[in-house]
Amino acid sequence: MKKTLVIGGGIAGITAAEKLAQNGGEVILVEKEKELGGNFAKLTFTFPVLGDANSLLNKEIDTAQSLKGIEILKETTLQSVSGSAGNFTVELSTPAGKRSENVSSIIVAPGFHYMEPTAYTEYYYGHSPKVVTSLEFEKMAAEGRLPKGKARVVFVHCVGSRDKAKGYRYCSKICCSYSAKHAIMMKKANPESKNYVFYIDIRALGKGYEEFIRSAMEEYNVRYIRGRVAKVLPEGDRLLVRAEDSLMGNPVEVEADLVVLASAMEPPVGSRELAQILGIETDEYGFFQEIEANVRPCHSTKSGVFLAGSCTQPMEIASAVAMGGLAATEALTLAQQ
Ligand SMILES: Cc1cc2nc3c(=O)[nH]c(=O)nc-3n(C[C@H](O)[C@H](O)[C@H](O)COP(=O)(O)OP(=O)(O)OC[C@H]3O[C@@H](n4cnc5c(N)ncnc54)[C@H](O)[C@@H]3O)c2cc1C
Ligand code: SF4
Repeated sequence: MKKTLVIGGGIAGITAAEKLAQNGGEVILVEKEKELGGNFAKLTFTFPVLGDANSLLNKEIDTAQSLKGIEILKETTLQSVSGSAGNFTVELSTPAGKRSENVSSIIVAPGFHYMEPTAYTEYYYGHSPKVVTSLEFEKMAAEGRLPKGKARVVFVHCVGSRDKAKGYRYCSKICCSYSAKHAIMMKKANPESKNYVFYIDIRALGKGYEEFIRSAMEEYNVRYIRGRVAKVLPEGDRLLVRAEDSLMGNPVEVEADLVVLASAMEPPVGSRELAQILGIETDEYGFFQEIEANVRPCHSTKSGVFLAGSCTQPMEIASAVAMGGLAATEALTLAQQ
């Protein structure tokens, strides 16, 4: 059987590699960083059931490392591609030097980048350590640095998403769910805390997601306020969050010890350059373009180059895993020819 190249060692790439190897395929899995795991490795718990992120991910990494058919190359990137479906020659840059391989297909799974909301000066981000992104909140939780005592924490939805003026027009799809997860994590870690979520509307499309968010409101007493935050200001040792309650039509002010910004999931760094090397297209934002998103979601615009995971659009782990499996099925067909 011919080899398959998988680009990106996040959960989508790991799943694709695993499925190929479990079905007799040979895989070269390249990851540009020192370790596998991608953004999943930065999470503490996962919605919608508060699964332990480390153990879920490590199980998959252990499986990938134990499968004979997978060669894992870390700190490795793709330099060039020639040939066509069934017979590509790829040049890789590895720590040991350049390496050339013949592969039947390529699975592209370089994931997403998390937007630094530096353009959003109204939220005081970058000016106070008490204003953090949701990804920074995950790190604080993992390190046991969440506010103690009668702390007030404000979670702000749609920072950089659904924002034609300064950010992206698209919805990042999963921040409603992970913000609820964070508010629940906060309440569990510190039952004395009061937690507020400012939202425009709630988008929670996935099995159990709606119920999960409801449980944040009803079981963990998270107060959901419909409205856009206009400004975050320093107020002594605390922060003052000013917003408009769009249901009541009133201005609202909340004093906070921590403000958490649900920033946008954006295309991976260098996606357009990688697309150029591969000879495939990206969409207007830089996410990789499917040839027919409805019926062929893992097909890129070039035959033999498949897409998996959040490099196509913001998505949760379950969808990245599903796409990884689907891409592996397509790649297997070419590997067997
Ligand atoms: C704050 C936050 C909380 C979240 N919480 C949850 C949750 O509770 N539940 C849930 O289901 N989802 C959650 N997610 C989403 C989850 O992180 C993603 O669904 C998942 O990481 C997507 O996996 P992926 O493999 O597509 O991409 P990634 O995790 O981004 O992995 C991509 C990998 O590719 C590598 N790479 C990139 N470019 C190259 C290149 N050119 N060459 C080689 N390698 C490359 C990267 O280094 C990385 O290792 C959360 C996301 C955020 C931001
Ligand atoms: S998922 Fe929710 S928080 Fe994220 S952009 Fe969409 S509506 Fe806003």
